[in-house]
Amino acid sequence: MNQELRELYQQVILDHNKSPRNFRKMENATKFAEGYNPLCGDHIDIYLLIEDGMVKDVSFKGEGCAISKASASLMTSTLKGKTVSESEKLFEKFHDLVTGKLGENPDIDELGKLAVFAGVQEFPVRVKCASLAWHTMINALHNKDEKVTTE
Ligand code: ZN
Repeated sequence: MNQELRELYQQVILDHNKSPRNFRKMENATKFAEGYNPLCGDHIDIYLLIEDGMVKDVSFKGEGCAISKASASLMTSTLKGKTVSESEKLFEKFHDLVTGKLGENPDIDELGKLAVFAGVQEFPVRVKCASLAWHTMINALHNKDEKVTTE
């Protein structure tokens, strides 16, 4: 990971952990799923408001480590206004990123702030923290009722 990305990583995680975006229960959500990462103890609930194939609104609630919260916060900021299929594609991309398939220095222009999560590939336990919100979002989209665990 290059220096620029490492500094950005620390900045983004600190910022989103301190003041998480879209951190609220959504009363009019059309999709909902609960996520749980037993390895770390992260609980993240995802709320989605889908209209005409678009993510009109997305929010999250729960408790977890800084990485799981920052990831959920950044995910919700990123997905708002995207289509459902764009959101699914971003999930794939994010998954490739945190599992190291995009390499240590991914394209920041393409991924935006999400690129900072390249940092977690060095810590396998943290991959689950970073991807919990995303897995939960996908389950919410597909309306699966069962609880997501990253195991
Ligand atoms: Zn965690």
